This record gives sequence, structure tokens and C-alpha cells, in this order.
Amino acid sequence: MAYFYAYHSASNNTDFDYTKGYGVSAESEKKLTHVNTGDFVFVIQNVHKSVGYQLCGLYRVESIDFEQDNVYPHRVQLSDVSELNDFITLNRHELSKVLPPAGKEGRWDRFMNHFAQTGRTFQKPLDASVIAILKDQLNLQGVANEDIPGSDEIEFYDKVSRALKLKSAERKKRLKNASVHPTKKQVSVWRYDRNPDVVAEVLLRAKNNCECCHTLAPFQRAKDGGYYLEVHHIIPLSENGEDSVENAIALCPNCHRQEHYGEQQIDKSWRPVKK
Ligand SMILES: [Zn+2]
Ligand SMILES: [Zn+2]
Repeated sequence: MAYFYAYHSASNNTDFDYTKGYGVSAESEKKLTHVNTGDFVFVIQNVHKSVGYQLCGLYRVESIDFEQDNVYPHRVQLSDVSELNDFITLNRHELSKVLPPAGKEGRWDRFMNHFAQTGRTFQKPLDASVIAILKDQLNLQGVANEDIPGSDEIEFYDKVSRALKLKSAERKKRLKNASVHPTKKQVSVWRYDRNPDVVAEVLLRAKNNCECCHTLAPFQRAKDGGYYLEVHHIIPLSENGEDSVENAIALCPNCHRQEHYGEQQIDKSWRPVKK
């Protein structure tokens, strides 16, 4: 599952309307070969001079159709994920400060390099940091949640990385001025509705041992004394992996964290050893 960007440029006289799909010209067809059903696309438009760039929303690719008589015959059919009431006006200047470089740094600012080019439409999957920045604009986090507690940590760690790179004095100054009572922000999260029977079956199979490092679960649950292991999907649900006993493995928290954040130890073809 990948995230793309698509541009609804000033040559369109009207607001982007996802119900009509996103049209791609015959010449740009080959860009669509790496776009799949289930992928996501952020659409940014620039059709109102007085407003500037707007984030229209985040959409899911439902199908790619062909309409012979259309000027843009390849129709990427979309469903609305973000369900915004209004388009979000983007602050080019502020976003340019946080976006990573996007190729040559010329006379355009970073925002323009990323989002003001028709040529970048469906060109290649967006980097995690760009996805995080756009989701932040939508106040939407953790789309396609994983099986690990707190998967929004990946996005949070991007901020930590940036903080680590600051000069010590600057970081200390920021700390001094920061509130020690973080503000609460409401976020929407998409979660897979996982099957508890799969988890139960895998836990029974593991017999209290991590199926990766083969050591006993590190502690027992206070609630019922059950041995604490986490059930991980070998092929992630977000990559169309199955929520099945065969695609799941019981891991101790260390191995699980390593699988998500460190060097991966479990081969995608891993299968439980029959006992
Ligand atoms: Zn382990
Ligand atoms: Zn996992």
C-alpha cells in the first residue's frame, strides 16, 4: 500500500471533485502501472488565485478505468478517506520549512517542488516524512494502523530526529519555552478490525514462547496470568497481508519492536514449525 500525490492544477476551472475520479492523460498512462487498488492519494489543487494551494483530501484508489472519449481517458476512481467538510488551505511558506528536499533546489520553494507540478502526479510513492506532514494537515494519523501498540511513533520519531539534529542550546531554549502540559489534539485513526480467534490460535501455538527468539514471554498479564506476547502479521495488513493464523507470529515485545523499527529478522516466507 503506497501513498501518492496528484495535482489538480489551475487549468481546471472548478474545484476537484473526487466523485468524478482523477483523470490521467494517455501520455501519462505508464505512471499508473505502479498504482494499485487500495493505494492512497493526496490531492492538492490550485484553482483559486486568491486562496492558493489547497489540500482537497486523502482518497483511496478503488479502480482504474478507461473512458475512450475522455481527454483524460484513464480514470482513477476514488473513495473519500478524509471526509473533509472543506478543503484545507495550505501554508506554502511554513510547509517549505518542514518538507524534505525534493530534487534540485532552484527558484521554487520546497512546497512548490513537491506539490506544484503536474509531473509529480502518481510519479512515485511519497516518503514517510511527506505523508506524515500531509496527514498532519488533515489531523489524521495512523491510517492503516499496524499490529504494534502506538504505531504513530514512527511519525513522532521523525520529530525526535529533527530535535536530535538541533544545536544543544537551541533545543534547551525550546524546552525552556515549551509547555510541560501538552495540549490534547483529537485525531482520527483507522484501525483494522482484527480477528481475535487468529490471535488466540497463534498464542496457543506459541506455547508462551516467542516464535522468533524462542525465549519465554517476559511477563504475565496482571489480569489473568496469561503470558504476554504480541501477535504480529508477517505480511502487514496494510500490504494486503491476511489476518490469518498462517500470516501471524507470536513475538516477545523486543522481537516485535525490532521487526517494526530495527533490522527485520523474520523472513516473509516464515511458517510455524509443526509440532
Ligand atoms: Zn523474541
Ligand atoms: Zn507487528
